[in-house]
Amino acid sequence: DILVNQIAAGEVVERPASVVKELVENALDAGALRVDIDLEEGGVRLIRIRDDGSGIPPEELPLAVSRHATSKIGSLDDLEAVATLGFRGEALPSIASVSRFSLASRREDDAHGSVLDVDGGRVGIVAPKPHPRGTTVEVRDLFYNVPARRKFLRAERTELGHIEEWLRALALVRPDVELRVSHNGKPSRRYKGDEDLFSGARLVETLGREFADAALRVEHAAAGLRLHGWIAKPSYSRASADQQYLYVNGRAVRDRSVAHAVKQAFADVMYHGRQPAYVLFLELDPTRVDVNVHPAKHEVRFRDARLIHDFVYRTLHEALADTRA
Ligand code: ADP
Ligand code: MG
Repeated sequence: DILVNQIAAGEVVERPASVVKELVENALDAGALRVDIDLEEGGVRLIRIRDDGSGIPPEELPLAVSRHATSKIGSLDDLEAVATLGFRGEALPSIASVSRFSLASRREDDAHGSVLDVDGGRVGIVAPKPHPRGTTVEVRDLFYNVPARRKFLRAERTELGHIEEWLRALALVRPDVELRVSHNGKPSRRYKGDEDLFSGARLVETLGREFADAALRVEHAAAGLRLHGWIAKPSYSRASADQQYLYVNGRAVRDRSVAHAVKQAFADVMYHGRQPAYVLFLELDPTRVDVNVHPAKHEVRFRDARLIHDFVYRTLHEALADTRA
């Protein structure tokens, strides 16, 4: 079983950033409004995620680190319309099989907290431990027992960069959540958790004042599709490919067809050759999009890709054309 988990880890856990992603998504699934992320050595030495979510009852700690025992999928219908971010029930077992892992938690009404350690996939025994309401997951020495994987890890700065990039993408779509990051014992990032998404305050925190000042507000709905967010006007000179954020039903994704539609709309109205910079949220009925294309869930497949491409193109074309008039 440890081997099965390690093989699954090969798909789910590529690097520290993928661990952070899985753990923070779990925290959000548990209703957390504040998540503390402590890192050491780019997350390779330590990733500690503490949340103020609903917590896990002691008797469920062993289930949480067992393969598929806790999958949030109850039926095929759930698969069609996944409401929560995580649903495969394999992230924790996978991560725990390739690290020194610990899961501590307490629910509001529990008399005390509990902790369960897993070392390289070997599951220990649940023990009492003081803990505030919520959950703390600690992942130490990632891939310590899988040298072949460990050797693919990059420099501390690079791994930290991947984590921060993922957190920025999350911060943009969850301005209601406070995120605090420390690296090697020093605070490195803080996203305050009380902003309204559309006030644009989070935009300043994540992408900077210049982007926020140049951002054109987009909001359009038709045919069961809604596109909202921001695209930078051409006056914004610092646009780059790393300022292109697309979310489908609240999930950060990469999609070539939508990216093409944005680029085309921008190029048709504005100057050729310049990259568009954008933060765009596409909302549609979950049955119209397949999010299970890749385990890391960066990719989606639309049932009506052509319609969506044209909708995005037309929406942005009109919005941008207005600014020219
Ligand atoms: P999945 O998220 O796909 O269900 P995971 O392996 O990521 O699977 O997590 C296993 C289970 O552990 C979750 O379904 C959830 O019940 C519990 N869990 C994990 N992290 C947390 C957390 N931060 N707060 C509350 N429950 C959690
Ligand atoms: Mg999960």
